[in-house]
Amino acid sequence: MTGATTLFTGRITRRSMSGLIIAVLLVTPLEAFAYDNPIVTGTVPLRAGLLLLILLGLRTTRITAVEAGQLFLAQALLSMATWSVLLDFDPNRIAVQTLAYGTILPVCTLLIAPKATRRRWAFLVFCVTLYPAVVRLTPENLGLLAQVIATLLVHGASVAALDTHADRAELAGEMADIDPLTGLLNRRAALNELARGVDRSADDQRSAAIVLLDLDHFKQLNDTLGHEAGDDTLRHVAHVLAAFVRPTDHVCRWGGEEFLVVLPDADEALAIDMAERLRLRLVDVGVTASFGVAEVEAADTVTSWVRRADDAMYVAKHEGRNTVHVARRTDRLTVERPGALGAP
Ligand code: GH3
Ligand code: MG
Ligand code: MG
Repeated sequence: MTGATTLFTGRITRRSMSGLIIAVLLVTPLEAFAYDNPIVTGTVPLRAGLLLLILLGLRTTRITAVEAGQLFLAQALLSMATWSVLLDFDPNRIAVQTLAYGTILPVCTLLIAPKATRRRWAFLVFCVTLYPAVVRLTPENLGLLAQVIATLLVHGASVAALDTHADRAELAGEMADIDPLTGLLNRRAALNELARGVDRSADDQRSAAIVLLDLDHFKQLNDTLGHEAGDDTLRHVAHVLAAFVRPTDHVCRWGGEEFLVVLPDADEALAIDMAERLRLRLVDVGVTASFGVAEVEAADTVTSWVRRADDAMYVAKHEGRNTVHVARRTDRLTVERPGALGAP
């Protein structure tokens, strides 16, 4: 999934948006050459400048991929308005242009607009797209009228169909990512978040850390109080964890009584602090767990990153449980126990 546009979920990656912008940057001078008009040529530096600014914003992470997509759409509408209103094109040419933009822009809007306002935005863009053709309609110009109506029907239907498909895909996608017992993200979703962390670390040197925790003596709880009580405890722990972390963190059910917290943009120190506070919070609610912490490294894969956290968690188990251990970086090649932490 990394590096690819996630169709119809309102999520696009920085990489795919950069590719799109670079493609338009390359095509822009050709477009000016094809139109051979001073107004079109005059706007080329303006559009290229705007596109370069969006690219720069993406590289420096000042704007998100979705914001870049929205700016990208704005520049497309700007150029369309330039072509249609400033230039005295003949109606047939406008109709052809309308058909071309009428296809691309509303669909582009569906991809980048937030879910709640997606339909409204697509409709707005659709109206703007058709406006230059509609204002030039005359009773004598029935050919253009027919084309506008056809565009309205065909693209209106496409947008509605794509949006319905998007809703279904989103629902199915969301269900596939959720653990039914706890309502947390499941292992599948966790693996996606981990892959994202590894990618961001490799591409942009951004830190990320994970906290893996395994409830202590959980089998004993099941055996004495019953499986139902075990399930209740798992749900309760899930609730406590989800309420505790930052809004940008991801709490996942990794396996039976194991949970994984993915902390984007967190270093080892922050993750240790989070794990220790979580440990105390669980003690408050009458459960103990053993914790393994690992910060992602440049050479990490998802597997090696999780394995280091898992190894650290097992050290915590072997040294008495209810404790936090951190996997030291492999360039130091040891799994150590942080001095300030330990069993209560
Ligand atoms: P340790 O401190 O070494 O982690 O001991 P433990 O008993 O927690 O570990 P062990 O791996 O021996 O047992 C895990 C138990 O978790 C066994 C299994 O029945 C229970 N378990 C796994 N998934 C579920 C679940 O969904 N519901 C309930 N109630 N129990 C579960
Ligand atoms: Mg376990
Ligand atoms: Mg356990």
